[in-house]
Amino acid sequence: MLIKRGIAVSPGVAIGPVLVLGAESFRIPQRFVSIDAVDAEISRFRSAVEAICQEIGDNERLASERLGAQYAAIFSAHLMLARDEKLVREIELLIREKSFSPEFAVSRVFRQYAKRFQALGDQYFADRAVDLYDLEKRLLKYLLGEKREELSHLTSPVLLLAHNLTPSETAALDKQFIMGFATEVGGETSHTAILAGALELPAVVGIGKFLADVSGGETIIIDGSHGTVIIDPDEDTLGKYRASEERYKSFSKRLESLRQLKSETQDGVPITLCGNIEFPQEAMTAAHRGAEGIGLYRTEFLYLESQREPTEEDHYQAYCEVLQAFPTQPVIIRTLDLGSDKMPGALKAEYPDEVNPALSVRSIRLSLQHLDLFKTQLRAILRAAVHGDLRVMFPLVSTLMEFRQARMILGDVVEDLEEQGIPFRKDVPVGMMVEVPSAAVLADEFAREVDFFSIGTNDLIQYTLGVDRGDPAVASLYRAGDPSILRLLRGVVTAARKHQISVSVCGQMSSDPMFLPLLIGMGIRQFSVTPQTIPELKEVIRNLTIAKAERIANRAETFDIARDVETFLRGELKKICPDSAP
Ligand code: PEP
Ligand code: MG
Repeated sequence: MLIKRGIAVSPGVAIGPVLVLGAESFRIPQRFVSIDAVDAEISRFRSAVEAICQEIGDNERLASERLGAQYAAIFSAHLMLARDEKLVREIELLIREKSFSPEFAVSRVFRQYAKRFQALGDQYFADRAVDLYDLEKRLLKYLLGEKREELSHLTSPVLLLAHNLTPSETAALDKQFIMGFATEVGGETSHTAILAGALELPAVVGIGKFLADVSGGETIIIDGSHGTVIIDPDEDTLGKYRASEERYKSFSKRLESLRQLKSETQDGVPITLCGNIEFPQEAMTAAHRGAEGIGLYRTEFLYLESQREPTEEDHYQAYCEVLQAFPTQPVIIRTLDLGSDKMPGALKAEYPDEVNPALSVRSIRLSLQHLDLFKTQLRAILRAAVHGDLRVMFPLVSTLMEFRQARMILGDVVEDLEEQGIPFRKDVPVGMMVEVPSAAVLADEFAREVDFFSIGTNDLIQYTLGVDRGDPAVASLYRAGDPSILRLLRGVVTAARKHQISVSVCGQMSSDPMFLPLLIGMGIRQFSVTPQTIPELKEVIRNLTIAKAERIANRAETFDIARDVETFLRGELKKICPDSAP
């Protein structure tokens, strides 16, 4: 039994067989073969070894001719490993005696050796470990051949382990068969983590290197509430987690009963809880969870999900679908937040020199550089707005000029639609995300020109503290409770009040029950959260008074380090909701 810890990003417990997604997204479909097939499987394995030896031999010759003998030596080392009698015998033994499929046996033996080599802490052996992974990949490629399966072709439930899942890969996960996932990289507010919440899949990210310990097919436990992954659990542990799976289900059921109750404080102040969505299909689920509208529709997923660029009609249909779930409530469409970790391949090629994607052509900057793309979306938004209370919001605005420019383009689109006699709504409210420190600092100036603010704490924290939101190596520095963040939030709320515009928080900070009393105490009355968390947040709200929340906020703002702020808030939450999540 092996226990690994990472960052808990989507609650719940999942137990089941593991599917390891390799660097090239290989999956091993079959772990065992029938006893009758053993001889044939062994000869299939031998042919695979022969074939890759041939391939490596060819590479060796080519490298020698073109680059010289010292480069050819790399392949000689590979060839030696591939022909290593001990390795080959060990694999054959697993096939013969344990009826392992050749793919499973190759993966298990190669990874075990690679792990041992890595553990020796010597550069020579570390390099051999890399060689072993390389050989494993070659062999699997050959063995799986045409049978190489994609994630989209799953036929039975599995728990997915991968080095990384991109937001688009996560978005494409089939919930019917993927019961949870865990990755080596990723942070708490990475887009992959956000999507895990949206898909309601237990997930742990940022575990660090661990895939070498897993071959695929073992039973694992993913505890997305506590950030634990257990490989090959013993019976005791399995029993314990089955019980906690049940506890989690009954906790969710208890919260479910809050669905019909109002979201208001004990002293009767309404607190609006809207939902964050990535796909139009989620709108119905959000409504079902009790969302009072959509506070953030991350429309860039229209691009990330599909192989082709979405048309105006695709946008229009998606927005209408969301409005069907919320025909009278506000629906905030955020214009494309493409770039950084959400860059489609075609656009990526346009920015070959991008060294620091998070500080490069992202979000509104990208829209302003691709007016065709931007206008297509704006046309669809204005057209769909005739069907409900649609609002538009620009992401990552960092200067007033940028906001004015975006608004001007919107004006151009209005003129075009008018000229073309196409039905649309003109008076759509136009807001912005406050997620770059410059916008928070100048909130007073921005508040004169925008219709509403939505604070994106995920990026605001990243840019204020200078910490990548998706990098586990600096995850401990990424703190929503940092006093600098609290001060920026206070400033934005004050500016919004002064200019009488609405302000909500749509970053993950507001989906965390611990921060809710603080944010309410600062004067925020609207939130847009992961729909899954609405019942839990409602419970906090219903146990709180405004006076109490204000006391909590005032006290939290007296601390000068994040740890003290968060310890204090955690303690207060325990007092407000003694039965919070298991
Ligand atoms: C944010 O930055 O807080 C936010 C809500 O936007 P995203 O997570 O999509 O970057
Ligand atoms: Mg953001």
